[in-house]
Order: sequence, then structure tokens, then C-alpha cells
Amino acid sequence: MLLPGICVGSLAEPVMPIVKTRTYWKTDAERARIAERIGQLTVRAGECLIWTGAKDRRGTGLMQIGGGGAATWRLARVPRVVMALAGRPLGEGMCACHRCDNPSCCEETHLFAGTYTDNMRDCIAKGRFQPLPVLHGSSHHRSKLTEESVRAIRQERILSASTLATTYGVSAGRIRAIRRGKGWVHVSDGAV
Ligand SMILES: [Zn+2]
Repeated sequence: MLLPGICVGSLAEPVMPIVKTRTYWKTDAERARIAERIGQLTVRAGECLIWTGAKDRRGTGLMQIGGGGAATWRLARVPRVVMALAGRPLGEGMCACHRCDNPSCCEETHLFAGTYTDNMRDCIAKGRFQPLPVLHGSSHHRSKLTEESVRAIRQERILSASTLATTYGVSAGRIRAIRRGKGWVHVSDGAV
């Protein structure tokens, strides 16, 4: 979906489809793997549990789902998966909203189900609604990456270059170059 006034090239929406489903796993073993993965990729920060893996441009965690090899992989938003693991799966049209106002948080007790409109209202009420920024290095018309996604790529330790390439819609060579620190030199790894 195109947003008015924003350079299309600046958007780093993953090109891999994001699944919104009640069934992120088919077997108990798959479920256990997903839960384990979330455990490995989160860190406790106060009461929040922060996702350290790939994120979308708003900071919501993204993870791969699918047990049958690369062809079955789909991206899922981690807070939705966390709610499903806790026995509170979200239906179509529902969002995982954060009581703590931190999109990267995956602490189950901080998540509640809301409609998209609830989510937007909540977001406006908390003063965190902002138009999507067009960032300096990503304003080039052919760029599909933003500073934020470059940072996420550099910090990602588990997903392969080819998976990240599919996720961000760029070549695997470009992902490897970014990981080696070539290009995007103005993006610091920013201790955030
Ligand atoms: Zn939280």
C-alpha cells in the first residue's frame, strides 16, 4: 500500500508475506521451536521483554514461521505469535496492542487485542502517532532499505543473507555488503 507523500523506495516493508493466523505451528515440536526462538531473541528490560531480531519499520518484531524449509517460510509479527502461544490468538482484523507503548516488547502480559482503529486511537492518545519518516540515506529513489532496516540487518545474527534479501527485497550480495560494513556508512549501529 502506498502512502501519500512518502518515497516508495524509502519503505522497507518486507516483501515476504506477513501471516496473520491462529495457527503458526502444525505440531507441538514446531510450537516448542517457536517458543524457544522467541526466548533466544528477547532480552528483559525492566518489565518489558524486548525483541532483538528483525523488526518492521515501526519496531515490531518479525520472525520466520514454517517448519518445512525455505519454501514454507512466512514472516509473522512476534507479538501476535506470543499471544497465540499464550492461548490468546488474534482473529482477522485484530491487532496486538501494547500497554507499555513499546512496539518491540513481546511480554505477553503487556499485550492486548484491539482493532486497527483501537490501535490507531491508542497510538494517537499516547502521542506516538507520527507520519512515516523519509530518512536521509533512504531517500534515493532506488533504495529499498532504511537506516532502521540496515541496523536490523547488521544486528541480525540468525537469519541468512538470502532470507534477509527476500525479506527486504534486495539482493543477497547487498545484504552481505551491509553486514561487512560497506555502504550506509552514515548509519551507526546506534546503541538503542
Ligand atoms: Zn512491555
